[in-house]
Amino acid sequence: MGKIICKKHGYACIVEPCQHVANEIDDKKYGKFYHIFTLLLCKNCLQKYNLENFSDKLLSYDGDIWNNDELLDYFFDAYDKIEERTVRCTECVAVAKVEQARINGEQAPFPTYNKTLNSHSNIINKFMSQLKIKFQFQKSIVVDNHFAVFVKPGAYTYPMTVTIYYIVNEEEQTHIIKFIDEYFQSILLNQVKIEFFEAEVWNTWSNC
Ligand SMILES: [Zn+2]
Ligand SMILES: [Zn+2]
Repeated sequence: MGKIICKKHGYACIVEPCQHVANEIDDKKYGKFYHIFTLLLCKNCLQKYNLENFSDKLLSYDGDIWNNDELLDYFFDAYDKIEERTVRCTECVAVAKVEQARINGEQAPFPTYNKTLNSHSNIINKFMSQLKIKFQFQKSIVVDNHFAVFVKPGAYTYPMTVTIYYIVNEEEQTHIIKFIDEYFQSILLNQVKIEFFEAEVWNTWSNC
């Protein structure tokens, strides 16, 4: 639904908390908040804008909601009225969830990646050009003038991911993995995930 460049996390997806929730997030706290699409509201704002009945329904991304113009109109009317609405990055929210779990003496709710490349585009670009020099990749059928090898910078909740298509030979895959492992040995931010797929799919490369 949109991306921002967060000062702490680089490129990240957006979330739209009310100012009250945003203050908590900034303090790395996570209370009883209500997630509706990109909105993240405190109970007071949920009630103030009469969205109590929507949080559960919309959370499920239920097909019925998308076909119900009346409900959607109601939601977007309320959305436009929310004066306290502001913007944070989903990774900042993730940090608050993990810190809150730590304070509560609970396990982190998901794995986190403190040592992965994000907006270090120089390092990522250099790595990708080395990879393309070293190995032969097929041309992408989805992206014009692009080899079928893609990199997605990492973030707090996921590692940098290298996605390679059409290379199905195990020996060749092993060579690539070894090369990447060795390449990242001297790099401090070295959490990398490597994926191989038989064929490309027409996705949008956005997980927001
Ligand atoms: Zn609020
Ligand atoms: Zn952030």
